[in-house]
Amino acid sequence: MNMMSTSLDIERIREQFPILHQEVNGKPLVYFDNAATTQKPTVVISALENYYKGINSNIHRGAHALADQATTAFEATRLSIKDFINAKEVEEVIFTKGTTDGINLIAATFGRAFIGEGDEIVVSTMEHHSNIVPWQMLCEEKGAQLKVIPLNAKGELLMEEYEALLSEKTKLVAVVHASNALGTVNPISEIISNAHAVGAKVLVDGAQSCSHLDIDVQALDVDFFVSSAHKIYGPTGMGFLYGKRQLLEEMPPYQGGGEMIKTVSFEGTTYNEIPYKFEAGTPNIADVIAFNEAIHWISQVGKEAIRAHENELLAYAHEKLSAIDGVIFYGEAEDKVAVVSFGIQGVHPFDIGMMLDARGIAVRTGHHCTQPLMQFFGIEGTVRASFSVYNTKEEIDKLAEGVAKIARMMA
Ligand code: PMP
Repeated sequence: MNMMSTSLDIERIREQFPILHQEVNGKPLVYFDNAATTQKPTVVISALENYYKGINSNIHRGAHALADQATTAFEATRLSIKDFINAKEVEEVIFTKGTTDGINLIAATFGRAFIGEGDEIVVSTMEHHSNIVPWQMLCEEKGAQLKVIPLNAKGELLMEEYEALLSEKTKLVAVVHASNALGTVNPISEIISNAHAVGAKVLVDGAQSCSHLDIDVQALDVDFFVSSAHKIYGPTGMGFLYGKRQLLEEMPPYQGGGEMIKTVSFEGTTYNEIPYKFEAGTPNIADVIAFNEAIHWISQVGKEAIRAHENELLAYAHEKLSAIDGVIFYGEAEDKVAVVSFGIQGVHPFDIGMMLDARGIAVRTGHHCTQPLMQFFGIEGTVRASFSVYNTKEEIDKLAEGVAKIARMMA
């Protein structure tokens, strides 16, 4: 864990997030639900307003000035994402509704075309439901099999067991980069090279990693990478899928409609080039354009500085909460993003969430869309506090105070 102290001026950063400056239940808001969605800086909020006030227009086919401006701004985001994840070519970046949509796209296209009876798909015990259910649906349709990488008690993947699962039957390995429920950062480089050694492709779910970790899809040699803008200080309703050019070109289209075609006739239709082949219909223009501001924002602040600050918060939260009798942690991996998942002996996570909410502290409780992971730990759910660049140690003090009070009250 990086314990380097940070040079970031957190007060100045907080000023850029208008939502943080309010009271909830009569107390200053403490927002610790960042793994569910991050808050948005003013530049992102203003970009949405500016788009609708200034250049709202449908893109690509317009022969007028506003359409040109909207198209240019829209495509500028694609270029920024390419740089953000270090893709080789801008055409390898496909806009989606988010991580879930990206995974479903791969299941419906790559999956339907290249996975058949007797083939195997490998996922891990800690996957979000969105990286389990599409594969179960595909397996059911195709007669393929889902294999699951087990974990140790700290919430880390058992890599030897993973390697033992791989064979020439494995067609796809679909794993999360950083777990939303535990914070575990998985060794994806090793996962990818092991999968490639048996000829399998790899999809990485980057929903939780992009706002904390540097992503280099070329260095990773990953085949598919998906994420959601709303987890990276951007708007809801949009995300992106990266895929290697050759794979995207070989894959059949996803949805049919406008934009994804070259020519349409009743005798036969020809499809557009990538990325448009996978972008049927009018896209989420405003949110795509606003996401560019989020990427600029995060790049300006710098991921290294963000990570240093978040790691400091993570270590501090762990120290504070572990001093409280009755607190149990779930997920104590060596390598983690800023997520603390915990419970209090004898208290339902939902009750903890309610009592913290009364103190203005927003955490998430429940299974975090990872029911198989909860089954692994033999619990119904956890309380999850997830930190972002705008959070402070003072806020963690409030969380620890609240948790200590609940633990005492319920003892
Ligand atoms: N995977 C992970 C690890 C997540 O944390 C989430 C969101 N909680 C998703 C997938 C799904 O993302 P979205 O709801 O934005 O599609």
